Amino acid sequence: MLTAIVGINWGDEGKGRMVDLLSQGYQVVSRYQGGNNAGHTIYVNGEKFVLNLLPSGILRPGVVNLLGPGMVVDIAHLRGEMERLMARGVRIGPENLKISHLAAICLPANVRQDCLEEERLADAKFGSTRRGIAPIYGDKYMKKALRMGDLLEPERLERQLRQLLDWKNLLLEKGYNAPAEDYGETLRWLRENGDPLRELICDTGLYLEEALAAGKKVLFEAQLGALRDIDYGIYPYTSSSTTLAAYAPIGAGIPGRRLDKTVGVMKAYSSCVGEGPFPCELFGAAAGALREAGGEYGAATGRPRRVGPFDVPASRYGVRVQGADELALTKLDTLSYLSEIPVCARYTVDGVPTGEFPSGGRLERARPVLESLPGWGCDISGCRRWEELPQEARAYVEYLEEQVGCAIRYVSVGADRDQYLVRE
Ligand code: GDP
Ligand code: MG
Repeated sequence: MLTAIVGINWGDEGKGRMVDLLSQGYQVVSRYQGGNNAGHTIYVNGEKFVLNLLPSGILRPGVVNLLGPGMVVDIAHLRGEMERLMARGVRIGPENLKISHLAAICLPANVRQDCLEEERLADAKFGSTRRGIAPIYGDKYMKKALRMGDLLEPERLERQLRQLLDWKNLLLEKGYNAPAEDYGETLRWLRENGDPLRELICDTGLYLEEALAAGKKVLFEAQLGALRDIDYGIYPYTSSSTTLAAYAPIGAGIPGRRLDKTVGVMKAYSSCVGEGPFPCELFGAAAGALREAGGEYGAATGRPRRVGPFDVPASRYGVRVQGADELALTKLDTLSYLSEIPVCARYTVDGVPTGEFPSGGRLERARPVLESLPGWGCDISGCRRWEELPQEARAYVEYLEEQVGCAIRYVSVGADRDQYLVRE
């Protein structure tokens, strides 16, 4: 059984907490794209955990967690993340964490390049997390990147690193007028952070095939959402990887397999980190109130997130490109403070109404057409059954469901593990 859990919106929909929730019934959880620019926040019995590289199944004893070939791994960050969790009593070792030999290594040079480019762009910046993600994906497609498996072959690693830095330093020194990246220092960094990970590096695809043959259930955990996909998102304000469910088998190491189910995680309102067109954006006091109610500050960066009402055209598009079979609606409780709930029902582009999600300049010129639904005006965070939700809350969920054209199966009403309800 292969299930993908993916984001329908701009990311930060609450995928981590849904993976944590659903991973109960699964034996394996695999990430398949992205790097440590992810921030998945999970509360277990009131205790907060933020994960960047590690799959959210790491908090469930007995679940095996994989970092797939489609990922980019900053090995220093990974070590730090593992150590912080282990210091809090989470058990991590070769029995529950495996890293693909094909995953690319995000180097300090990539992080520097990311920062240098954001500084060069100044006011035109993209809102990069400055963690080297775009540069390392660039290097990967230029066929220059080092991969995790290279850490197991020191001589090859040294040779490749030399070639890589010869090339990279052309850009750093001559392009950005910045100091060259030092070969010896990078090699030390690779050994210091790579050696402790050696026993975790393997063919995760082979592992997955064996797990599936043994009847195990596998969950794919996406980072970011449909609207950040490199091809189908709000390019160029996207991430550098494919965030879509269709890529999950490829990015996890089993390209010949098909998904059995895709669960889309969709937020009851909109949030967006960083730059780029965001037609339904709220400003001023209304934005401040929603940001506070939803605690919308980036898990990876602490940046205040841009917020807005639920966006129908964007979410319907997200459901379509993800191929979602069912949805989990998160953060419904956040809207409890509103007496009237605005939603962006469609856009107008150049004065013409549209329900489609446009791209490029048309997306930049899209203006929201707002409608409003009655609020429920009471605390719903204690509801555990659909029937316990106030009628207005159920009507809101049913409205979203109808607008995006996909069943909402889970509704979450709080960040803690048990704060959700399932609609049968
Ligand atoms: P991800 O990147 O998709 O995993 O999402 P993030 O973890 O970045 O952001 C989601 C935030 O919302 C986290 O702080 C979660 O703890 C929180 N969260 C998730 N579901 C709910 C919910 O139903 N209600 C509330 N109030 N918070 C939630
Ligand atoms: Mg996040």
